[in-house]
Amino acid sequence: MNGELEEVIRKIRRRGLVQLPEGLVHLIPKISDLARKFKKEVIFDIDPTYGACDIRLCEARASSCDTIIHVGHAKILDVGKVLYVPWRREANVEKIIEKLRKIKGRKCVATTINFAWLLDYVKEVEGVVLGRGSGRVPGEGIVLGCDTSVCNVQADINIFIGDGYFHPLAMGINTGRETLAIRPHGGVERIAYNKFLKRRLALIGMAEGRNVGIIISSKPGQNRMALAMELRDVAEENGYSVRLYISDYLYPHYLTGLPEDFFVFTGCPRVATDDTFEKPVLTPEEFLLKLGYLKKYRIDWFTSIKSLPADNEG
Ligand code: SF4
Repeated sequence: MNGELEEVIRKIRRRGLVQLPEGLVHLIPKISDLARKFKKEVIFDIDPTYGACDIRLCEARASSCDTIIHVGHAKILDVGKVLYVPWRREANVEKIIEKLRKIKGRKCVATTINFAWLLDYVKEVEGVVLGRGSGRVPGEGIVLGCDTSVCNVQADINIFIGDGYFHPLAMGINTGRETLAIRPHGGVERIAYNKFLKRRLALIGMAEGRNVGIIISSKPGQNRMALAMELRDVAEENGYSVRLYISDYLYPHYLTGLPEDFFVFTGCPRVATDDTFEKPVLTPEEFLLKLGYLKKYRIDWFTSIKSLPADNEG
């Protein structure tokens, strides 16, 4: 990563805004030293950085930065001068391959950008299929929490390689296939996505009352203003009284005291499904499922109701 950091810091014209995920704040002294060496100035953004959909344009403007350096994620947005520095996470490649070889049938394998280097080894294993995915995903076999389009392939089982639950849950829910997670150290976990599904369906049922708050995200890569307007229209057509809200982050206490029965959050679906809110917070799909516009539960990224497949059964 040092070489890449050096390269991007050289490209700052005068002052750069640096975004680091939580796990990489130890790079701050290194980046400061490099900036000093190349006679550039850097400002560190200490807001949380969850993904490449979260580019801090306002902060860059407010601090007169000519460049944003975004560490740890790959480009999914075309906005201004943003330089990306990949973050390669280490993993036990031998163990992962050994576990993969033991799994029978056609295996749809996907991982996050930090483990993308593993795919060169993984694709040699018999039965492995890597999907291409939509324009939002940065490459073959790469999954985002809100985009599992690389799983749109013929397969018997999904295998997610990496940490966390949201990505493999989305893979399982969207395809209906058995889904395993192979962890970076080689451990294997079966993903019980039906439990998640049951919990979310129960929550959709609990979203009662006619006052709904539709929340728009101000993050450039999570802003779905047009979808929020469409949701407002269909909600009103269905007899709901709608108020619109906008926020950057959405922490549970932001909703305290707001006069709504439940909310629909149009930003990152991971936030809405966090289950830490006092009142139900639904994703756009969950709200559309409640209204009968969708027939099947999904976790996706879509920007207009019109773009949903007509039968939406798949
Ligand atoms: S899951 Fe959330 S954080 Fe990840 S790319 Fe999608 S919107 Fe961004």
